[in-house]
Amino acid sequence: MSEDGRLEAGGESVDEGVGQPGPTGRPLPSFPVPAPLTAHGPAWIVAMCNQKGGVGKTTSTINLGAALAEYGRRVLLVDFDPQGALSVGLGINPMQFDLTVHDLLLGGDSDVRDVIVETQVDNLDLLPSNIDLSAAEVLLVTEVGREHSLARALAPILDDYDVILVDCQPSLGLLTVNALTAADAVIVPLECEYFALRGVALLLQTIDKVRERLNSRLELAGILATMYDARTLHAREVLARVVERFPDEVFHTVINRTVRFPETTVAGEPITTYAPTSVGAAGYRRLARELMVRHNTPPLVG
Ligand code: ADP
Ligand code: MG
Repeated sequence: MSEDGRLEAGGESVDEGVGQPGPTGRPLPSFPVPAPLTAHGPAWIVAMCNQKGGVGKTTSTINLGAALAEYGRRVLLVDFDPQGALSVGLGINPMQFDLTVHDLLLGGDSDVRDVIVETQVDNLDLLPSNIDLSAAEVLLVTEVGREHSLARALAPILDDYDVILVDCQPSLGLLTVNALTAADAVIVPLECEYFALRGVALLLQTIDKVRERLNSRLELAGILATMYDARTLHAREVLARVVERFPDEVFHTVINRTVRFPETTVAGEPITTYAPTSVGAAGYRRLARELMVRHNTPPLVG
């Protein structure tokens, strides 16, 4: 970053395009580089949620988390999908752990701090899970207060982090309801492809139900258009429809489709460290700044 805070790791100016129509057609506001935090916590918990698979939930969890961490925010990523893709995407084999999220959900005496592992990125920790989590989902069904299990598991560490991002599985089942019950906000990643909007109404209904019955704090932080290819008419049309339908909810930041993202999964690191000057890294940094400007509660900005 330059001294005036206007230049980023990639030499990118954070004010590029401000006032001009952005990819969503609306003029781009300024999303300045945030001031350092003078104190940390309590964490703002965000569920990354869409019951459709392959829309960019895991990719967005890793890279938004890494971008927030780069800005000095203390970030915990929660792998809440039994597939363990979040752990793998961070170069961590989730099968190596004796303790995972699974052990925290069922009310045993495991300490969440014993389950958290550090990643290779400063300020970025991981709560791993693996296929055991699908067993936890089955066992949870008969538990009292089963929807609150994740919230209970995270309670002891809220003061250790500024942001906790929960990577949900592609379903609206009990695990996702647990994530929504623990969360302050939801980000819905949408792939700019055919049928992107299919299922979103059901997801929003689920969010409303959780807000009414289980967690009155829950808000929609925003809808994130991912895998956008401005060269295709099709992607432009899909994005236009998403903006038409959710004019206030769609983030100004749109994540482009680029092969760098699948590459990062193989490399096992976020794009912000794998290809720091890439368009993809700039996209998630911009998203991090937009989120901090739009949702500064609790203070994410010093
Ligand atoms: P989900 O968690 O919703 O199932 P993922 O984040 O795993 O989705 O993404 C699905 C696939 O698409 C992965 O192979 C990932 O590398 C790839 N991908 C994600 N975002 C992008 C992008 N912006 N451009 C290109 N490929 C992407
Ligand atoms: Mg995923």
